[in-house]
Parts: sequence; C-alpha cells; structure tokens
Amino acid sequence: MLKLQHISKHFDNKAVLDDIHVEIGTGEIVSLLGPSGSGKTTLLNLILGLTKPDRGSLEFNSVDITRFPMKKRGFNIVFQDYALFPNLNAYDNIVYGLRNKKGIVSEKEVQDYIDFLELRPHLQKRIGELSGGQKQRVALARTLVTKPNILLLDEPLSALDGVIKESIKRRIQSVAREFKLTTIIVTHDPEEALTLSDKILIIHQGKVAQFGTPQQIIHQPDNDFVRRFIIEQL
Ligand code: ATP
Repeated sequence: MLKLQHISKHFDNKAVLDDIHVEIGTGEIVSLLGPSGSGKTTLLNLILGLTKPDRGSLEFNSVDITRFPMKKRGFNIVFQDYALFPNLNAYDNIVYGLRNKKGIVSEKEVQDYIDFLELRPHLQKRIGELSGGQKQRVALARTLVTKPNILLLDEPLSALDGVIKESIKRRIQSVAREFKLTTIIVTHDPEEALTLSDKILIIHQGKVAQFGTPQQIIHQPDNDFVRRFIIEQL
C-alpha cells in the first residue's frame, strides 16, 4: 500500500500541491487525472522520488519513504515519449537498464516478459521500424524487467490512436493483474481514466477534487468541478 499523507509542494511561494491525502492499494490501477497545470506531473515526480514534498509524507508498505531517493524506492516509470534508444534494437532496449544490475531478474524471466507482451517477432528490429503500440510495449517491457515495486505511466495513450489505444489499455490492465503491480497513470483524459482504472484521483488546482472508483465519479461527483470536468469531456 502506498500512502500519500497530507502532501504539499510549493514553487515560488505558490502551492502546486495542497494537502494531498490518499491511499493506493497493492495491485490497484490508479489514474491521476486533471487539467493542464493541475499538479499531476509534480505529484508523479514526488512519488518517483525526483522531488520532495514541503509538508507531508509518503509511506510504502508501512515504511516512511519520504526522504528515500528514487533508486531506493524501486519504483519505475514509462515516459510519455518512451525514451527508447533509436540505435539499439528492441531486445537491447529492454535489457539496457539491467546492464549494471546482476541478479534482479533471470534471462528466463526477461523472456517471459517478452512473451507476455508478445514482442518476440520484434526483438531484432530497430526502434524506428516499430509501430507506436510496439514501441509502447518495448518501453513497458524495459520497465517491467527492473521489477518495479510500483509502475508509473506518464500519458501512456496520448501518442496512440483507435484500435492500438484499446489494445494498450487492455495490456496495461493485464500487466497490473498478472504481476499484482500497483500502477499509477497520469492522464488529462477523463475517458481514458474511467475505462482504464480501478480508482481515479482527480486533481484541481493542486487539491484532491475527488478520489474514487469510476462508478463513484460518474454517479456521485463530489462537486461541480468534477461534474463539469467529467461530463463536458466525455
Ligand atoms: P500538464 O498536464 O500540462 O503537464 P500538470 O497537471 O502535470 O500539467 P504540473 O506540471 O505538475 O501540472 O504543474 C503544476 C503547476 O506547477 C503549474 O502551474 C506549473 O507551472 C508549476 N510548476 C511545475 N514545476 C515547476 C517548477 N519546477 N518551478 C516552478 N513552477 C513549477
């Protein structure tokens, strides 16, 4: 369980996050949803350990990790642009992060992730030869082989369209279920959050506008902001 306890963060005396207090259960898929500038990326960076809160604390499986650097947290992220190396093939991209870390994962496990994500036919291809959905799967495999305690995904569907978007959504859900992996997704798109997540944290001007299941958010919006943000964009 990841607990964000009364987290606040200021930039230039402006509160970018204000008293964020939520608990995320093991294996849950949670979307951080909000309009541009609401504080989603700042919260993602705080969870990853790239920045520290001014007030409040983070607890993971009953350990206070507020002051832990990124490495010690063992969380990992798939960036919005995938950040793959274009001069390496898909396989070398997948194992790149393991080069100085012996023993995290066996070659058999790497192969299992490759099969789970159906990447075997593409392993020798260079990144430029892959479709958007295939790149996303390579990026996902590269992150999964590091066996993260929490998987973070930054706008994972924004570069994809139609059928590929649906297929990656199902893929993310199957990864979370298969590996019982807590998965936190940043998105500005209510439709994506509602169809992908177990729970949604809606952020508005740095505050929690609502934290609940898609059903609760659609049928029992806590306030006018949530009602408008969800209804108007659906
Ligand atoms: P977007 O969807 O556009 O990426 P977001 O919801 O991720 O937006 P953040 O990037 O977290 O929002 O930014 C929230 C607010 O904090 C914005 O007003 C932004 O200008 C401000 N901000 C973020 N990082 C910094 C920083 N390093 N220094 C100063 N202000 C910052």
